[in-house]
Amino acid sequence: MNKFEQLGLSESLLKAVLDLGFENPSEVQEKAIPLLLEKDTDMVALAQTGTGKTAAFGFPVIQKIDANNRNTQALILSPTRELCLQITNELKNYSKYEKGINVVAVYGGASITEQAREIKRGAQIIVATPGRMQDMINRGLVNITGINYCILDEADEMLNMGFYEDIVNILSTTPDDKNTWLFSATMPAEVARIGKQFMTDPVEVTVGAKNSGSNTVSHEFYLVNARDRYEALKRLADANPDIFSVVFCRTKRDTQAVAEKLIEDGYSAAALHGDLSQAQRDGVMKSFRGRQIQMLVATDVAARGIDVDNITHVVNYQLPDEIETYNHRSGRTGRAGRLGTSIVIVTKSELRKISSIERIIKQKFEEKVIPSGIEICEIQLLHLATKIKDTEVDHEIDNYLPAINSVLEGLSKEELIKKMVSVEFNRFINYYKKTRDISSQSGERRERSDDREPRENNNGGATRYFVNIGSRDNFDWMSLKDYLKETLDLGRDDVFKVDVKEGFSFFNTDPEHTDKVMEILNNVQLEGRRINVEISKNDGGGRRDHNGRNSGGGFGGRSSAPRREGSFAPRREGSGGFKSDRGGFSSRREGGFSSDRSRSEGGSDRAPRRSESFGDAPRPRRPRRD
Ligand code: ADP
Ligand code: MG
Repeated sequence: MNKFEQLGLSESLLKAVLDLGFENPSEVQEKAIPLLLEKDTDMVALAQTGTGKTAAFGFPVIQKIDANNRNTQALILSPTRELCLQITNELKNYSKYEKGINVVAVYGGASITEQAREIKRGAQIIVATPGRMQDMINRGLVNITGINYCILDEADEMLNMGFYEDIVNILSTTPDDKNTWLFSATMPAEVARIGKQFMTDPVEVTVGAKNSGSNTVSHEFYLVNARDRYEALKRLADANPDIFSVVFCRTKRDTQAVAEKLIEDGYSAAALHGDLSQAQRDGVMKSFRGRQIQMLVATDVAARGIDVDNITHVVNYQLPDEIETYNHRSGRTGRAGRLGTSIVIVTKSELRKISSIERIIKQKFEEKVIPSGIEICEIQLLHLATKIKDTEVDHEIDNYLPAINSVLEGLSKEELIKKMVSVEFNRFINYYKKTRDISSQSGERRERSDDREPRENNNGGATRYFVNIGSRDNFDWMSLKDYLKETLDLGRDDVFKVDVKEGFSFFNTDPEHTDKVMEILNNVQLEGRRINVEISKNDGGGRRDHNGRNSGGGFGGRSSAPRREGSFAPRREGSGGFKSDRGGFSSRREGGFSSDRSRSEGGSDRAPRRSESFGDAPRPRRPRRD
């Protein structure tokens, strides 16, 4: 008997689970589903984003409603249009073997009469945003006076967005004897208040610590001077060639400005904020899901409900005004059990906010140093080499080989490699040659590294290594550190500054261990592959470059910057179209991305991806009055 069967799910749901490719229930599913199936009860369930809450309420609600009765029996409220569509889509998938169940989405920005018509045809389950639901109730287009179940999904976000009154009004038109299930990532006071007001003896299901962040996300901050914020962002992107991220800014203006600068500098970036038309937002989201965009620069409001798997980094370009919002931001990564990193670019005056956030998320930040130009160049170079190695050859090229060979005739393999890499690389190295070191360090950090001196060799006296294993071998920095300690038989603090990239990683040890590291690691195999370790030139600490001070490059020293391929961003002025900026350092779109994607999808054991179904969805919601 598989684990889903043990939860008490019906045959038709189990069949759907099989199609979905879910192998085991998530913790919140395991806890909530049996309780909800067993009896009629109110429930408060707290679990991080990405833990599978949709199915935790979706399976039971589908099983409990009467498919032969066409009346509306369940109402699911969700904060945004996008989530509303996602939930609807999921529920349709769950109920596909259950005859006669209709799930209808009700949200702003689309035809209200069309939605009313769909409801009239019989909708046992309505998934709605509060604003539009309230409208429909006011206009008598929907009847929820007989529902048995009301589900508040992402209750904290709904209240954050100012839906309190709508929710109260909506709930007051529902019967007293219905069951209310409240799902939330966090439990702020307003959510507790709703719970008190509208629920009787709810059973409580908690996954992980209350109000704490997901433990698949690691948190890092980089201390910089305010004027270096943008330069820091660029370097972080350059140091993570496979970055697929949401970059949060505080205002629409900053969001637009940062996105435009990134595009100008050749990155594949786009802005997402409330001043864009619906069509523009849909376009941006579609490109992001399709991975033509690597950095989505967004406001908090616009990014609510973004549910894209595989986001590698959340970047807090600026910290939010309300530190609670940090949780929502960082929850965009580390979803569905994957690892993610939440980065904060912070100035000295904001440092104390980091401690407040640490208290809220009950996790510590790691202070990191913006990589130096040299370090970035090395990372990019190795990334490029890895990419060349991984590129699948299209045999169309065979026809041109004789001609190509005659052009390249006489070059040795060595020379050829150098030249190929230089084609892409020169631009990068030229840019970073001119830049200065931009990281600022907090007092604590400075003391610590000063202890470590000598600083002259750029590495605090430690040896930095390059090793050809990385996140694609399922390592994150913690597990790689463990692996190295174990393999090398070293002590707790002997391996440090572990930095994991996709196909390779860096780490440091004290020089006394260098011989041992080279000797042992170069003779180890990992799943049949030989490990290759080399001493790295980069300093791993982002300390001052060999070139010393900035010579005017750096911030705003634009466009000498390395260019990336295709960038999209809706511009405020003009026809609202996309600006595409091709021809760059890494043609991610053609090569890297498609192979990344096939790897992650191929490797995943889940069949359908929800993203496709939403690419063409009508119009995103407005935050409030939808
Ligand atoms: P939440 O609402 O808690 O943020 P979702 O319900 O949106 O999380 O689920 C996050 C992702 O995990 C989705 O892509 C979903 O399809 C997937 N998922 C949910 N349950 C399972 C499971 N039991 N096994 C594998 N994947 C799952
Ligand atoms: Mg959810």
